[in-house]
Amino acid sequence: MLNLIFCGAPGSGKGTQSDFIVAKYGLAHISTGDVLRAEIASGSDLGKKVNEYTSQGNLVPDALIIDILAAQVKALGADCKGVILDGFPRTVAQAEALEKIMNTTLLVDLQVDRDELIQRLLNRGKTSGRADDNLETITRRLEVYEQQTKPVADFYAKLGKCATINGMGSLEEITARIVAAIEAAK
Ligand code: AMP
Repeated sequence: MLNLIFCGAPGSGKGTQSDFIVAKYGLAHISTGDVLRAEIASGSDLGKKVNEYTSQGNLVPDALIIDILAAQVKALGADCKGVILDGFPRTVAQAEALEKIMNTTLLVDLQVDRDELIQRLLNRGKTSGRADDNLETITRRLEVYEQQTKPVADFYAKLGKCATINGMGSLEEITARIVAAIEAAK
């Protein structure tokens, strides 16, 4: 099994690069952001609760997202070659819960300068239709990332399972760096 975590600030390219790596290695892909947006779009009570957090740029509570993620992992087929988790875990408590249900091969930590992150997210906001791609919410999401999610990379570094990747440059260059790190970890 090749089980990867794509970590990095909002706008670091987690989703874009996940798509390339999923296709190359034939992996399943779980994006907790996509799962939550689908829940909000369904108009369910859970979606309304989730929206109170996401629309402000805050994280959904650990207990809620861990249950959602665990259900997604459980639903993977028996013939699954592995999975990319895109946007999970975002706190150390989530990482600890994850390691009880899955053996992670590698965390890919995509690093992009703050100015470029903001520019990418503002550009994305023009077409994404995402309620959280505006300057105020972007600023909050970057703060949350620094405070709560950065320690997740340290958690995996201590396990010898963290690859720090330069996320600046062309899409092809970044993909090649990620593939090299995965091949070294396999
Ligand atoms: P993303 O599409 O990964 O940027 O996620 C969008 C939003 O969904 C985040 O800003 C959070 O509000 C929420 N979210 C996604 N994944 C998680 C997670 N693992 N833990 C808590 N909140 C999450």
